[in-house]
Amino acid sequence: MLDFLHPQSLIPAGARPVITRFAPAPTGYLHLGHVLNAFYVWSIARASGRDARVLLRIEDHDRARSRPEFEAALLEDLNWLGFTADGEVTRQSERGALYERALDSLRKRGLTYACECSRSEIGAGPYPGTCRSKNLQEAAGRGVRVRLDPSTERFDDLRLGPQEQRPVEQSGDVLVRDRDGNWTYQFAVVVDDWLQGVNLVIRGEDLLDSTGRQIQLARLLRRHPPPRFFHHELLMKSATQKLSKSDGDTGVRDLRAKGWTADAVIQRAVSSAISRLQLRK
Ligand SMILES: [Zn+2]
Repeated sequence: MLDFLHPQSLIPAGARPVITRFAPAPTGYLHLGHVLNAFYVWSIARASGRDARVLLRIEDHDRARSRPEFEAALLEDLNWLGFTADGEVTRQSERGALYERALDSLRKRGLTYACECSRSEIGAGPYPGTCRSKNLQEAAGRGVRVRLDPSTERFDDLRLGPQEQRPVEQSGDVLVRDRDGNWTYQFAVVVDDWLQGVNLVIRGEDLLDSTGRQIQLARLLRRHPPPRFFHHELLMKSATQKLSKSDGDTGVRDLRAKGWTADAVIQRAVSSAISRLQLRK
């Protein structure tokens, strides 16, 4: 189905067999945006060789927003759609000890520091490094950050081509654990991809901006080489508005209830996206 993308040529020889993942957050129900992502993940994996693996990871690092009933629904809908993962389902909520160990390896090399800034103090921009040289002790009510280096990250996105990003300017020092003790998405994902051997990350292009930061975090954790990335187009409600859970007619559950078949749901997701695809020659 994805012949036009020539997945074999997309995957560099060093990255075989392909290990990729589908990683939903159980903070809502599956919608067409997830279906499009799942379609890419499974299609590229299957087309890249019989030994490719798709891991299913439940990204429930946000303990306040994750709910077991959403996880159960996600698993059930994926199964109904026919997307079958390889191996056991993993949950970020069960991997705290691994994140702690990864944090410790950074801490021992002096790459982390405690941060007492609140979200409102930092605002929307990059973290300005307020606590970088305060030498605060880690404590309850304080976050932990990683010192980024000022390097420019260069990578070749498998769909979008060569990219250049400067994480230190985009985000500033990355938060690893927040003031409430939650592991952050950025850190958990990098540690998980590393420990699970994920060598190809297939995700929506709304996450392109965080790629350089994740590559740098992987390097600081001494993962070499970092995973490769394929960022696909997003399903849009209009030219400028992302599709969201609150839009009607996009939830897999709703479409199922209206009598749609799994194939029809997948086709709806893919055809809306492909009409926007700009193919690279
Ligand atoms: Zn701070």
